[in-house]
Amino acid sequence: MSCADMLAEVRAGVDKFIAIRRDLHMHPEKGFDLPRTSALVKRELESYGLEVQTGFVPCAVLGVLRTGRPGKTVAIRADMDALGMQDLKDVPYKSQNDGVCHACGHDSHTAILLGTAKYLSDHRDELKGTVKFVFQPAEEGPAPGGAKLIMESGVLDDVDVIIGAHTQPRYPAGTVIYRYNEMYGSGDFFEVHLKGVGGHAAAPQNAHDVITTAAQIINAYQCVKARECAPMKSSVVSVCSVNAGVLSTKNVLPDELTFGGTFRTHDDATRSYLSKRLEEVANGISALNGVKCDFKLEPLFPPFGNDNEVTDVIRQAATDVLGAEHVVEMTEPFMGSEDFAHYTKKIKAAFFLFGVGNEAKGITAYYHNPRFDVDEDAIAPTIAVMAETAKRLLGC
Ligand SMILES: [Zn+2]
Ligand SMILES: [Zn+2]
Repeated sequence: MSCADMLAEVRAGVDKFIAIRRDLHMHPEKGFDLPRTSALVKRELESYGLEVQTGFVPCAVLGVLRTGRPGKTVAIRADMDALGMQDLKDVPYKSQNDGVCHACGHDSHTAILLGTAKYLSDHRDELKGTVKFVFQPAEEGPAPGGAKLIMESGVLDDVDVIIGAHTQPRYPAGTVIYRYNEMYGSGDFFEVHLKGVGGHAAAPQNAHDVITTAAQIINAYQCVKARECAPMKSSVVSVCSVNAGVLSTKNVLPDELTFGGTFRTHDDATRSYLSKRLEEVANGISALNGVKCDFKLEPLFPPFGNDNEVTDVIRQAATDVLGAEHVVEMTEPFMGSEDFAHYTKKIKAAFFLFGVGNEAKGITAYYHNPRFDVDEDAIAPTIAVMAETAKRLLGC
């Protein structure tokens, strides 16, 4: 079957997957607690005649397509979780769960992978080897995220290659964005709790001031990044919250302060250096100031890059399905993080992005914005690219 015929066949059946995406959008669920979402996924996969496994990680679902012919095992991963935030869009499929919203597009990831599973199931006679469809919880957290637990569960131990994809609102629907080499940064969180001695603002000599201590630590963090990390090794340290004192009280030095943030890198050595050094600097400056410091690190995702051979297959499949003008190279890596990283540490892997923006339809909001939406015209082309990539990775 030509790629054009394939895309036409996917388009003919895409309404079902748009309806699934809307259903998931209206009923978003978070973290590892996705009972409705995973029940829907399981029901769908079973209706395509796939073997379905659950119970290996909370709310994760694995669909297995065994062709009965020897060959490689290829996995395709979608994340299914939403975010703890309001949906402020005015659309008929607006979230009905207060304070929970699919503002990263994982609803479309789930619908697209179901569409891919349906297409490949319908064409199983043309395939060899095995395809595993991985529906994971908790990409957005909580730690350690769904991918790490799925890897530890062993259900992907026999997988030769894994691919995954994410929405990209900066490009129009029907675009595939591929990347060679490094793609996403590491993502780790930290929290610093300072305990000093409070007192009268006019007599700081009787206090151990947590506010000036925090100010010194926060400034020193930028020096660690700028003076201790090699300039050609990308990294960023951001403090994103500081909490102490009472705004309306102008004459009391508080005795406690907390601040927290994140650091991102593109290599494991810089990541482990910062993990150690941010703690040392917080402890050292606090000790100088007579303040007690408790530093908490929440390690999340390592950085990851793509396997260039697999990216070549994605790029070529996307070019054949969509036309070269709709396939774009991503020229710079992201500093954002993605828990797909955990798969890439043990399995040959590549990740790509697909455009979901549409200015004419007013779909322009960026990830994690309360108005984020997905142009559903992206669903059929992305199913076709994913299915074609899987076929080629299987050698069919
Ligand atoms: Zn997200
Ligand atoms: Zn996401």
